Amino acid sequence: MILIIPALILTMVAQSRVQSAYQKYSQIRNMRGLTGAEAAMHILRRNGLSDVKVEMTHGTLSDHYDPRSRVVRLSPGIFKGNSIASIAVASHECGHALQHHMGYVPLSFRSAFFPVVNISSKAAFPLLFLGLILRSAGLMNVGILLFSAVVVFHLVTLPVEFNASSRAMVQIEENGFLSMEEVSGAKKSPKCSSYDICCIGSYGGASTSEVHYS
Ligand SMILES: [Zn+2]
Repeated sequence: MILIIPALILTMVAQSRVQSAYQKYSQIRNMRGLTGAEAAMHILRRNGLSDVKVEMTHGTLSDHYDPRSRVVRLSPGIFKGNSIASIAVASHECGHALQHHMGYVPLSFRSAFFPVVNISSKAAFPLLFLGLILRSAGLMNVGILLFSAVVVFHLVTLPVEFNASSRAMVQIEENGFLSMEEVSGAKKSPKCSSYDICCIGSYGGASTSEVHYS
């Protein structure tokens, strides 16, 4: 319980940071009027990854790269949107596609364990609350253990996110997707910021249902 409360608070804070950064930068149109889908396709083509598909998925902040089917899936707001956040998030997901293409080992490690972690993150809170209702210390402990394992997993694999974000920034700058002022906005936008601790928030927390591979 001593460990779980700070982790829970950190998750909530991180999640609200992501949401508010997304809210802000999804309202600001980028100067070139480029959509997330256009930016993603451009990055993939330019890096010789034309066989990686770009698809629209449902939900908000459900964007991810699926290494098994080699698809960059973008949420509707990112796919069709032409905001600064659209460029930042789409480029970040392409950063994962580039990692995969270049055989970046930490990504393979994360992809291998992700299905288990995903199930654990979905089960942790229901078990914890069920334990509370039924006054079962056993159930609560299982919930806490699962939640802790998920948090540890995301902390350990955080470098994968930082690496994807730095690859994204290189692509944004090299392709001239955003102006200098817009770049500073993109850096604060979800998935490109040094607060990419958002990863813990969006993947370790309660609302992970749609996130597969960030
Ligand atoms: Zn990511």
